[in-house]
Amino acid sequence: MTITSAIYPGSFDPITYGHIDIVRRAKKLFSSLLIAIVANPNKTPLFSIDERVAITEEALKEVGITGVEVISYDGLLIDCAKSYGVDAIVRGLRVNSDFDYEFQMALTNRDLDSDIETVFFMTAGRYSFLASSIVKEVKRYGGDVSSFVPKCVEQALVRKFAELNGKAA
Ligand code: ADP
Repeated sequence: MTITSAIYPGSFDPITYGHIDIVRRAKKLFSSLLIAIVANPNKTPLFSIDERVAITEEALKEVGITGVEVISYDGLLIDCAKSYGVDAIVRGLRVNSDFDYEFQMALTNRDLDSDIETVFFMTAGRYSFLASSIVKEVKRYGGDVSSFVPKCVEQALVRKFAELNGKAA
């Protein structure tokens, strides 16, 4: 068996149980797993990069996942993957609409470095609808997101929206 290290990149704005499920499953398959949070995603993030790193670390701790390093990166994912010497990129697939983008990214990354494979994890049925954007939308209007994210993430969302509403007032 080949010992393989992997990187799981994303915006994690914020981390949800959908991400956490992928982390748990990827951890079983790879000898080491690194979560890489992109500092400047295409979409404007709710949380700063430092907040996203801190929330992700806290969430992993809350759910009892150890041994997964959380880092931030800017620029090309493949450069980050190379600088950490990983062999694989982990991504999750939820619905059909994820496929086109993921397919394009995987092929582009393979073109940039054919030694790094992208490995896809199919979502768990119960998280197939779950996205950070949905969690933010529900919490923005005070809804209960406890079945979507760990407690510390929900608290961070409450603080963030209170802060933003305070600024707007
Ligand atoms: P990005 O902006 O790079 O898509 P995200 O933080 O939204 O970053 O997602 C990171 C990865 O995690 C993506 O591959 C995404 O498909 C996957 N993912 C997010 N939510 C889920 C979920 N509920 N089930 C499975 N995979 C998921």
